[in-house]
Amino acid sequence: MVATGSGTQSGKAFYVTTPIYYVNDAPHLGHAYTTVAGDVLTRWHRQRGERVWFLTGTDEHGQKVLRTAESKGVSPQEWCDKLVEEAWKPLWRHLEIANDDFLRTTEKRHTDRVREFVQDLYDKGEIYKGGYEGPYCVGCEEYKLPGELLEGTGENAGKQLCPIHKRPVEILKEENYFFRLSEYADKLLAHYEANPGFIQPEPARNEVLSFVRQGLQDLSISRSTFDWGVPVPWDDEHVIYVWVDALLNYATAVGYNQNQETFDATFPADVHLIGKDILRFHAVIWPALLMANGLPLPGRVVANGWLLVGGEKMSKSNLTGISPRQITSHFGVDAFRWYLLRAIAYGQDGSFSWEDLAARYTSELANDYGNLASRVAAMVGKYFDGVLPAASADGDAERAVHDGLAKAVAEADRKIGDDVEFQAGLQAIFDFVKQVNGYISEQEPWKVAKDDSPQARARLATVLYTAAESLRAVAVLLHPFMPASSQRLWESLGAEPALGPLAGQRVQEAGQWGRLPAGSTVTKGAALFPRLEEQPGA
Ligand SMILES: [Zn+2]
Repeated sequence: MVATGSGTQSGKAFYVTTPIYYVNDAPHLGHAYTTVAGDVLTRWHRQRGERVWFLTGTDEHGQKVLRTAESKGVSPQEWCDKLVEEAWKPLWRHLEIANDDFLRTTEKRHTDRVREFVQDLYDKGEIYKGGYEGPYCVGCEEYKLPGELLEGTGENAGKQLCPIHKRPVEILKEENYFFRLSEYADKLLAHYEANPGFIQPEPARNEVLSFVRQGLQDLSISRSTFDWGVPVPWDDEHVIYVWVDALLNYATAVGYNQNQETFDATFPADVHLIGKDILRFHAVIWPALLMANGLPLPGRVVANGWLLVGGEKMSKSNLTGISPRQITSHFGVDAFRWYLLRAIAYGQDGSFSWEDLAARYTSELANDYGNLASRVAAMVGKYFDGVLPAASADGDAERAVHDGLAKAVAEADRKIGDDVEFQAGLQAIFDFVKQVNGYISEQEPWKVAKDDSPQARARLATVLYTAAESLRAVAVLLHPFMPASSQRLWESLGAEPALGPLAGQRVQEAGQWGRLPAGSTVTKGAALFPRLEEQPGA
């Protein structure tokens, strides 16, 4: 798969978005999953030396938010303010999400531009007034097709249910404004055809293709039964459909109709990361809206699968799962970020399991990686008084490590940076960690250290330099996933004074052998990944 994104320091930014999350409740594991993926992807590209823009935010309009706020006895704006400031933004800070912007759809910088965008469509004849009656799911904020509804059972017997929310739909009849979506089916199909990587992964692409091939219905883009939304510019009896309002955040946040220079340097997104439940909005409606207004289309829409927790699907309608903070308080933020992308192939359904996380934490983070770091630092301390010696006797064993690193860097960069396949990228990095562990086991530096001859000292120096220099590269490669522990390793290796801050290290240079200078002060700090205590859920 070839990357369509082309961020460079001077040209267009590599622009990544999370979905604009519906703010009717606190963020859960599913939101954290997509947001961590966006953070890792953008951190990786920053470490390629590219200019990057990472956007996240909250979708605050619509009937669902209005009803939730009413049930709590507050105004919808108060409800959104409280959730955003007390739940959403603090969680992203806690998870070390380095977003460049956080857009709330109730902000004036957004709502003014949404009105202009829709007015432009209206002026172009892309919007007309019409009537519509059909089954509507408030959870989805979407009219459903009769064929996709489920028959209710139990307390919902005799009712028809939304297939996603399993809740009864309402029959809604409205005089609404409609966007001529039906006229874009052929143009969309031509775009999918010409850009095979536009929708990832393959099953998501196939689903969209078969949906659009059936033909598209015009899209109702206004509502008049409630007023919590952006008023339609030419008819203030109507508010703009919450999904049109929400999708436009990807444009309004980066200067649409406001700052042309910023807009041209950022828009369109190279990668829209989404959950597959909102695939049609991003792969069908969003590009059609952009086509209708003559704007460029995004590079890729990458859908992640369902996240299951103990068999329960995590989605916006099912919040019974474990909260992100429950996990981080036991395993730490780094392990949480790493596990989500390590355990589940991005794009496929996967399950979060406390036991699996505990097992992987112990075997890969604590034993393979953390122990390697502390053993190497301890041996440099014991045999060379904490001053990293120079390698002077490289042989076949060392050359195999150099080659292994070069391969790991190339593979990780392609998988993570180009293909958005985090699991395969992490596999390459941890295969290299295993290789270095194997190298140390074979070289047995603790035995070499018993011999005081100059040859043995040179051999010992070479082995420890090779291991420390390997760890220098691993710290760079894992930094986008696990910023805090990588930083501690960087400091323990004494890399900062000679090489500069870890965040500024280039992925490309990670594989250049010999960057960590001999003479660096290596210190053995606390374990990167301490042993897990017994915990109640296990
Ligand atoms: Zn629904």
